[in-house]
Amino acid sequence: MTSSTPSYDVVVVGGGIVGLATAHAVARTGRSVAVVEREPRLAAHQTGNNSNVIHSGLYYAPGGYKARLAVAGCAETIAFCREHDLPHERTGKLVVATDPEELPRMAELKRRGDANGVENHELDQAGMREHEPHVRGIAALYVPSTGITDYRAVAEKIGELVAKEGGEIHLGRPVRQILPRASDVVVRTEAGDLLGKQVVVCAGLRCDEVAKAAGVDPGVRIVPFRGEYSGFSDRAAELVKGLIYPVPDPAFPFLGVHATRGVDGSVHAGPNAVLALAREGYSWGTVKPKEFLETITYPGMLKIAKKHWKYGFGEMHRSLSRSAMVKQIQRMLPDVRAEDLHRAGAGVRAQAVKADGTLVDDFLFVEQAGSGGLGAPGSVLHVLNAPSPAATAALPIGREILEKLTGEKLAPLTAS
Ligand SMILES: Cc1cc2nc3c(=O)[nH]c(=O)nc-3n(C[C@H](O)[C@H](O)[C@H](O)COP(=O)(O)OP(=O)(O)OC[C@H]3O[C@@H](n4cnc5c(N)ncnc54)[C@H](O)[C@@H]3O)c2cc1C
Repeated sequence: MTSSTPSYDVVVVGGGIVGLATAHAVARTGRSVAVVEREPRLAAHQTGNNSNVIHSGLYYAPGGYKARLAVAGCAETIAFCREHDLPHERTGKLVVATDPEELPRMAELKRRGDANGVENHELDQAGMREHEPHVRGIAALYVPSTGITDYRAVAEKIGELVAKEGGEIHLGRPVRQILPRASDVVVRTEAGDLLGKQVVVCAGLRCDEVAKAAGVDPGVRIVPFRGEYSGFSDRAAELVKGLIYPVPDPAFPFLGVHATRGVDGSVHAGPNAVLALAREGYSWGTVKPKEFLETITYPGMLKIAKKHWKYGFGEMHRSLSRSAMVKQIQRMLPDVRAEDLHRAGAGVRAQAVKADGTLVDDFLFVEQAGSGGLGAPGSVLHVLNAPSPAATAALPIGREILEKLTGEKLAPLTAS
């Protein structure tokens, strides 16, 4: 390291939507900031390969980060898209129960929605058909505030604003090591070092690996769960007006295979949840034996496999068999046929799992104190679980992280 090593108030590792929103919050306060991203472009992983739904905050345990930050993020994302002329639409969504066994879970969703201040309405069969004429179910919740956008476009716009406010974005620079010192932190990349008074790690599928490279035991392991999408034919797309979701299984932090009309008008169903064979394992063909071995020998993963093997095999079967996938979709949309579906890409979720097999439900922030203490120069903040709805919640997450770093509270962005 030399006296010419570039130096910033904050260095953010990861150019997904959470890292970019964090850099944006920092830049809004006039502090200097750099984002360091390993890929040659922004939003290359979860942010650019998701369902593009602006979540309302319906599902999440009241009082947690997800509940608070998704509700705020839903309004803020819409305001941001409006302000910057980005594609978005407030479509509303239906959560549909297809089996009487799901009714108590739907009642719990309603209770959570009410506690989180999310407008929602119970509908009977006639009511649900007014919103979605082709849906089949026994009862539904309608949530008007849910919407759709294009998170890659949102992330790229946030990146543009960071640069406009004087921040720097370094692409194609994997971070290999983080060395906290007395009054700053060295961020070591293949293309040279950067210095941050403080560092924030938002490395998604590799956040636990980067935590270890900073000398921290993250206490969790990222298990990559691939979510595959099926595109609908033009005929089947006519059957879906907006967003149609099942009642989720409370054993998993996933929302179940849903049908979504995107901002480009196309309709897709997904994502399922299959164990990926590499951290960035976007298809069955992407296998990294070392990473896969590390995942399946992790005690937490072994516990999940023991408890949920039936569910896991079911998801694998639906991944490999179009007829199995169509059966699942037909529970809510009986007129969809196997020939209506085609493969339409995938995303990989970075799900933090504890050694006892618990899938971490809420967002998880772990602060690594420098010698000056937490929040002081020399400290590192690790975002160790930011799955869905973190794209929706990214702007408030960025402000939350800024407050953890500096104690400074920023006002939300609103459309002018
Ligand atoms: C299938 C799927 C569907 C989803 N649907 C929705 C949805 O509809 N609505 C919603 O709100 N959320 C959804 N989510 C969740 C949402 O996409 C994520 O919560 C969000 O994108 C997380 O953003 P992030 O910045 O933390 O992670 P990422 O977007 O994954 O970004 C992390 C970045 O860190 C970089 N990185 C990793 N290691 C290093 C390193 N060593 N050095 C430098 N950079 C590094 C990566 O290259 C990556 O660009 C979905 C996710 C998936 C996978």
